[in-house]
Amino acid sequence: AEVLLEDLSGVGPATAEKLREAGFASVEALAVASPAQLAACADVGESTAAKIIASARAAADIGGFETGDMVMERRKLVGKVTTGSETFDALMGGGFETQAIVEVYGEFGSGKTQVAHQVAVNVQLPAEEGGLNGSVIIIDTENTFRPERIAQMVEGLPPSGEPEKPREPEEFLRNIHVARAYNSNHQILLAESALDLAEKMKKSGKPARLLIVDSLTAHFRAEYVGRGTLADRQQKLNKHLHTLMRFADLNNAVVLVTNQVMAKPDAFFGDPTKPVGGHIVGHTATFRIYLRKSKGEKRIARLIDSPNLPDGEAVFAVTSAGLMD
Ligand code: ADP
Ligand code: MG
Repeated sequence: AEVLLEDLSGVGPATAEKLREAGFASVEALAVASPAQLAACADVGESTAAKIIASARAAADIGGFETGDMVMERRKLVGKVTTGSETFDALMGGGFETQAIVEVYGEFGSGKTQVAHQVAVNVQLPAEEGGLNGSVIIIDTENTFRPERIAQMVEGLPPSGEPEKPREPEEFLRNIHVARAYNSNHQILLAESALDLAEKMKKSGKPARLLIVDSLTAHFRAEYVGRGTLADRQQKLNKHLHTLMRFADLNNAVVLVTNQVMAKPDAFFGDPTKPVGGHIVGHTATFRIYLRKSKGEKRIARLIDSPNLPDGEAVFAVTSAGLMD
């Protein structure tokens, strides 16, 4: 039977009503909220909010369990794609991992789309050259995919082990499947279609090993404005991220998403920016990389909160030939 908001400990009829008005229609929506968000929307203290969320999490059906040896078997299949830069690869423990969501966030022009283009090229390379012999699916929300840039990066690759077989940009482009997403609902649908497309591609010689969503959050940010709609936005984004995670698991693929940063006016010290989508993206993304511009072609990638790698920074370059040290 469905669990009602009133069934949760700490939620009486009045609070339940406030929660519904704030957009938390279900126990699942509450389970993925943050205490601060709830406190602000529903006029309860943060510690009460935390208790409500904890009981919502216990009541919501948040997926099954598997044993450690099953996880280990799956982990053995993890592949890595080179970024083109040795220092960036080293920061990532050898490259971008499959079965994971990699979030690259940063300001406009920091190089997020450049990283996405480069990985779309590199994932197609054979294992000896840092690739996974795979195809690519791109969900392009900002109309920034450029085939010309892909061609330029293919021509800029380091010499191949088989110089007698020149690399053809056309061939790389044929292995990239792009769709424009016109709004957040369309984006969610395209991610679900990507699961079907990848299933078909499994039978071809080039299975989908990379799904790019560039940008993950732009449509959500533009469409959901104001406090009342925030819970709805986070719920949709959370569902979308779960589709993406499923893609990564089912296809042993890298899911690369980009994210903008927004001004955080209350930060007087340090970097006054934070990624859109807050803790929802943060908890689902396996690797978060904060990208910033340095002098000229130089870019700085900072790895944040990785489950098994030390935090740190790498400096690399975005050149006309692509990413390099
Ligand atoms: P965003 O983080 O907004 O996605 P981009 O990935 O689009 O940023 O980065 C744009 C920057 O990438 C440009 O300002 C430029 O520095 C660099 N760039 C883009 N195309 C080229 C190119 N063909 N050659 C060299 N640098 C390029
Ligand atoms: Mg971009």
